[in-house]
Amino acid sequence: MEIQHSDRIGIVGAACAGLTAAEELRDLGYQNITLIDAKNRIGGKTYSIQYADRSSQTRGIYEGGTVWVLPSPLYKKYKKRYGISTTQHIMPPVQIFDLATGKISSPFLVQSQYSLLSKVRQVTKFFRELSKYTRYDNPGYINPAYRIMNEPSPQWFAQNDLGFIREALIPIANAAQFGHLEEEVASPYVIRLLALLNRCNLPKKLLLNMPQLQEGNQELWNRIAATHNLCLGQTIKRVTRGKTIIVETASHHWEFDRLIWTAPVEDFIGVADASPEERDIFSRVRTIKRAVITCQVEGLPSNIFYCVRNTFNHPLPASYPLAMYEVDPGSKVYSFYPFMDETTTIEELENNVVDLVKKLGGTEVKLLTQPLIWRWFSHFSPQDLGNGIYERLEVLQGSQNTYFSNELTAGVSVPYGMEYAADLVQRFFSQRPSSLGQIFPEKELSAR
Ligand SMILES: Cc1cc2nc3c(=O)[nH]c(=O)nc-3n(C[C@H](O)[C@H](O)[C@H](O)COP(=O)(O)OP(=O)(O)OC[C@H]3O[C@@H](n4cnc5c(N)ncnc54)[C@H](O)[C@@H]3O)c2cc1C
Repeated sequence: MEIQHSDRIGIVGAACAGLTAAEELRDLGYQNITLIDAKNRIGGKTYSIQYADRSSQTRGIYEGGTVWVLPSPLYKKYKKRYGISTTQHIMPPVQIFDLATGKISSPFLVQSQYSLLSKVRQVTKFFRELSKYTRYDNPGYINPAYRIMNEPSPQWFAQNDLGFIREALIPIANAAQFGHLEEEVASPYVIRLLALLNRCNLPKKLLLNMPQLQEGNQELWNRIAATHNLCLGQTIKRVTRGKTIIVETASHHWEFDRLIWTAPVEDFIGVADASPEERDIFSRVRTIKRAVITCQVEGLPSNIFYCVRNTFNHPLPASYPLAMYEVDPGSKVYSFYPFMDETTTIEELENNVVDLVKKLGGTEVKLLTQPLIWRWFSHFSPQDLGNGIYERLEVLQGSQNTYFSNELTAGVSVPYGMEYAADLVQRFFSQRPSSLGQIFPEKELSAR
């Protein structure tokens, strides 16, 4: 069916991927776009929570999801379009806290067996290597190079003689995304996460003092959503695809010509008339659960961001917080980031927060709210990657007028989610298909 600007397009999920798709479609001239979300708010895993009134010292906001605003030309374009302030809230630099010794150091100053010369060589080599995976015209895992990188990431670091980089950056990568899965996660996921660093200038790369939006990270999505046709609080019960696509919830029934699914694909096979290929691919997806625990704490230093030293050869229980920081300097409100496995209880999560606070010299911990729990990092096994699962997934795009754009196709992070969604729209909905590499001039793509 030839694509028309009058096509009725349904988008499931009103967070960074769905809202970017809607925004880019409207820019191309599509007018009949409906966004549907199961929750009663937009933003998905970008979730800014007001915990206090704004004062001269604090914004009174903490981030329940997306912590850092990482560079992306699309972010820049939308921030300008929607009048987001150019002054940012800069987070403290990341430091590594070693539970065993009590030592705190910058990531690149961690205790290590490598000589200074070897460390410098590795840092230079690593950032050069990362530049292969930073291209904007290759979003998600479309790049066939990922198919042969199907080893778990510790092997990749060993093969590339980057042992020091693993010591310096993997505690941060594990805190950010992989938790206790480091040993089994395929290297493309780790490399792509770290490749986001290559978009930053050198001081930021070394210090990792990243920004947040002054208004709270969710505000950009609130403003974009306010200009689109939105149905919130709608749990999808059924998706039936024939000549048109019928999407049903308990109270609504929509008929679309095309559907962009930005919610998890595991949910898609639960409600849709999935084909055997969709069912086979999506049933292979693995996920991980993580929690965000925000507390009022007495006795800790102000303006800190610590990642706890953790790698597969310095293991910590899944439920131990791997990162913590003060949400606003002087607020005494700190967020903690543990992961969860099948056996983790809320009590265990809270006890581990208290234990970490005690080890850092804190005296009193009061929970601000119940822990927020997220299912995330949809990914495939190294074997599936090696067998070309992403190529199969790309072949699915557009079949039965259905498209998928989410953390599985894009990779974790808001920039990746936005860039994959924008690229998908360019590839399948533009009368003159192009790729992001053509949309954004090279100077836009280089590190800032
Ligand atoms: C704790 C935490 C910290 C993070 N830190 C960072 C960071 O520092 N920097 C960064 O760039 N990224 C960070 N991320 C990752 C980033 O938030 C996500 O990668 C990004 O938000 C994914 O966007 P998305 O639109 O693909 O999916 P989501 O944000 O997950 O949105 C999916 C949307 O679909 C809706 N939905 C789900 N299921 C259904 C259904 N069945 N029917 C209808 N709607 C449904 C959801 O309600 C949601 O609105 C963090 C995430 C978490 C949880």
